[in-house]
Amino acid sequence: MNQPVRQTATSTQAWNKAQQIIPGGVNSPVRAFRSVGGSPPFISSAQGSRVNDIDGNSYIDYVGSWGPMILGHAASEVIAALQSAMQNGTSYGAPTELEIELADLVIEAVPSIEMVRMVNSGTEATMSAIRLARGYTEREKIIKVEGCYHGHADYLLAKAGSGITTFGLSDSAGVPEDFARLTLTIPFNNAEAARRTIVANADQVACLILEPIAGNMGVIPPQDGYLEQLKEITAEYGVVLIFDEVMTGFRVAPGGAQELYGVTPDITCLGKIIGGGLPVGAYGGRREIMSCVAPGGEVYQAGTLSGNPLAMSAGIATLNTLKDSTVYQQLEVTSAALAEGIQAITQKYQIPCHHSRVGSMLSCFFTDKTVTDFATAKTSDTELFAGYFWGLLNQGIYIAPSQFEAAFVSTAHSETDIDTTIKVADRVLSAL
Ligand SMILES: *Cc1c(COP(=O)(O)O)cnc(C)c1O
Repeated sequence: MNQPVRQTATSTQAWNKAQQIIPGGVNSPVRAFRSVGGSPPFISSAQGSRVNDIDGNSYIDYVGSWGPMILGHAASEVIAALQSAMQNGTSYGAPTELEIELADLVIEAVPSIEMVRMVNSGTEATMSAIRLARGYTEREKIIKVEGCYHGHADYLLAKAGSGITTFGLSDSAGVPEDFARLTLTIPFNNAEAARRTIVANADQVACLILEPIAGNMGVIPPQDGYLEQLKEITAEYGVVLIFDEVMTGFRVAPGGAQELYGVTPDITCLGKIIGGGLPVGAYGGRREIMSCVAPGGEVYQAGTLSGNPLAMSAGIATLNTLKDSTVYQQLEVTSAALAEGIQAITQKYQIPCHHSRVGSMLSCFFTDKTVTDFATAKTSDTELFAGYFWGLLNQGIYIAPSQFEAAFVSTAHSETDIDTTIKVADRVLSAL
């Protein structure tokens, strides 16, 4: 089998220029490939399951813009919606019916959401949800789970997975200790730790926030009963339970992890897929809590471009397309084929690897441990991962440049894409 020879000259040139005028050359750290070494290809276009770089290489893409592109790139439904919307102007800063339509689609799909506010990113969604929880409970402390990532708000950068894990930073510079002091952290999949922390800080904890399926330390599903226990403990102590479903919302099921596991939080954060590739986030929940948001209530939160008509249109087109009941079945079949294929290869070459998958999000951790939390995820061999990553990239398969990220399968990934990926992975892993 001919191995493609990847061209890199034009991207290298762009990279040199970018690093002079953009911090680290990128507008979001993990794109800089620091944890795998080397420099990133610059992307010029994307279509279906593929992204294309400015050097003329084409890749089967499992990054999917880090989650949003569940319909693949440049999905015809989304492009048509955008083309039609932009004829009518791109922003008004006034209410539109598009906002109602997207809110309706979200409320219909996500079991615990009765009211929802649109924002522009996942970071904004979690920031706002936490302010709301604090305003609603009149308490200050928050509990977050180690390895879960909720965007880059000051008080959420304690033990925050992905980018932070990848860079080996325990925290960020520029975060006052007084802010971080109000954030208590506990391990994932450990309800007892949640109980202990809540009891020790009784009447002081506003909320417990977590990714119900961890995706930002690699994919780690919740163990049986974990989410139920969290719900029970938080309810008992009046702590607002926040599910950050920015990644899992409309990914693992239309209603996210809460639909899949049948456990509902008080507040849900959304993002990624609900914007169909445009900048959107949202937070929603019970009417009683959401009514505390301004202007009805006293918790302030605003945005010039929030509910932007282009973003709403892309979101509406995406969620409407996902209503087709066969979509998630198809994703399950394709994703299972990929995961099983890769697993068979690591077994064949006896490479220690913990495979995990929930629907169309998957990870292989290069470790002989069973990965259930941040500590076990971190036992992974990141050098081996870097070799795997570069082997794949050089042969036309684009996965996230970090051991601690999920791979995403879209409806645009064909059986042939999966077969090709498995063949390339075999070649790469046989040489590691
Ligand atoms: C991506 C992500 C965020 C942050 O969203 P941005 O749009 O990047 O600000 C928050 N929480 C989770 C679970 C995410 O996956």
